[in-house]
Amino acid sequence: MDYFLTDSQKIIKRLAKKISDEVISKVAGKYDKEGIFPRDILDLLAYTELTGVYIPKEYGGFGGGVLEMCLVVEELSRNCAGIAVSYAATALGAYPIMLYGTENQKKKYLPKIAKGEAIAAFALTEADAGSDVSSIKTVAEKDGDFYILNGNKHWITNGGEADIYVVFAVTDKSKGPRGISAFIVEKGYEGFYCGKKEDKMGIRASSTTELIFENCKVPKENLLGREGTGFIIAMKTFDRTRPGVAAMAIGIAQGAYEHALRYAKERIQFGQPLTSFQAIQHMLADMYINIEAARALLYSTCRMIDSGAKDYTKESSACKVFASDVAMKITIDAVQIMGGNGYVKDYPVEKMMRDAKVTQIFEGANQIQRNIIASEIVKEL
Ligand SMILES: Cc1cc2nc3c(=O)[nH]c(=O)nc-3n(C[C@H](O)[C@H](O)[C@H](O)COP(=O)(O)OP(=O)(O)OC[C@H]3O[C@@H](n4cnc5c(N)ncnc54)[C@H](O)[C@@H]3O)c2cc1C
Repeated sequence: MDYFLTDSQKIIKRLAKKISDEVISKVAGKYDKEGIFPRDILDLLAYTELTGVYIPKEYGGFGGGVLEMCLVVEELSRNCAGIAVSYAATALGAYPIMLYGTENQKKKYLPKIAKGEAIAAFALTEADAGSDVSSIKTVAEKDGDFYILNGNKHWITNGGEADIYVVFAVTDKSKGPRGISAFIVEKGYEGFYCGKKEDKMGIRASSTTELIFENCKVPKENLLGREGTGFIIAMKTFDRTRPGVAAMAIGIAQGAYEHALRYAKERIQFGQPLTSFQAIQHMLADMYINIEAARALLYSTCRMIDSGAKDYTKESSACKVFASDVAMKITIDAVQIMGGNGYVKDYPVEKMMRDAKVTQIFEGANQIQRNIIASEIVKEL
């Protein structure tokens, strides 16, 4: 399928593909097994300037948009979604600053992220506040020139590894979601610690940790937007980053499809390659159809966002839901096509099946995305 990418988008995609095929594919199994954080790969992405593709030129980036970010995530995910998510979570931490940061905040943080000198993270979820994010309990109290943060965050991608964290905390309990604010917290701030690292089913190269705030002193100039706008900042950020989850899902699905197709051509049973059996052919055809449909929805959504459209919540949720469901189905089918070899770690598809699952869960589980889409389409009636 020709998606009519611009010349620069083709170059970005080609470069990310080269890194994915020539470097990531060689370490993906080891990093997954041993839970190694891919700092070397992130350094390579920085060296090749892929870390700045979605950051405006005036802040040291390439000046691309969500589509450029997704092209990188998709290609990296073809070989390892755990490594790709370490890159994508930096974008998740960078977007609130790009969208709501003051000029000083943008100048201070974005060039470092663009150059790959700093890794970012986004800390919203808590043990008792997952889908119901407005019930977070971490508090931020104003004290002179500082806000004092207290509370715990759970499941934070790049936890412990990131240098810059966008952290959501309650500044006015009486106001519900309108009492939540967002802060930029730097690694090393007094009272800020990294807690337990999760032992995950998939995306095991990524770091997912608890964050602990004990009287953490955050300078008042690190408030993002105004007090009470944290919930909006989180939702508007997700509108731009859920396509990144879709890109990750499509990359995983594409990787699994390529492995299954190659295997099916080579594997002989009953004197014939598996590709000669119609049951297998139809699975492969469905994989192709669903990947292209998911990609078409993703790229259209990205183009809509990058064109400056005002509202793209349902499109962003739709591409995340569709692509992640497709990735789950395709990776399960890829294991099926490869039989016993699909089920063992000598081949990468069992990892892809484990990696795919989280795309249906994080950045808002798919049930929540369907709730969002339904409320938007009913509102439009
Ligand atoms: C590997 C990983 C990395 C993550 N990284 C980050 C990160 O960087 N930053 C961050 O802030 N968070 C992060 N998260 C958290 C993630 O966004 C949440 O796990 C997710 O939003 C779901 O919340 P929960 O796990 O508490 O599930 P719950 O909210 O407890 O939901 C459990 C199930 O119930 C369903 N459900 C809940 N409410 C409803 C409803 N109203 N209607 C229908 N179904 C419902 C959900 O869809 C889900 O299937 C990460 C999670 C994981 C697993």
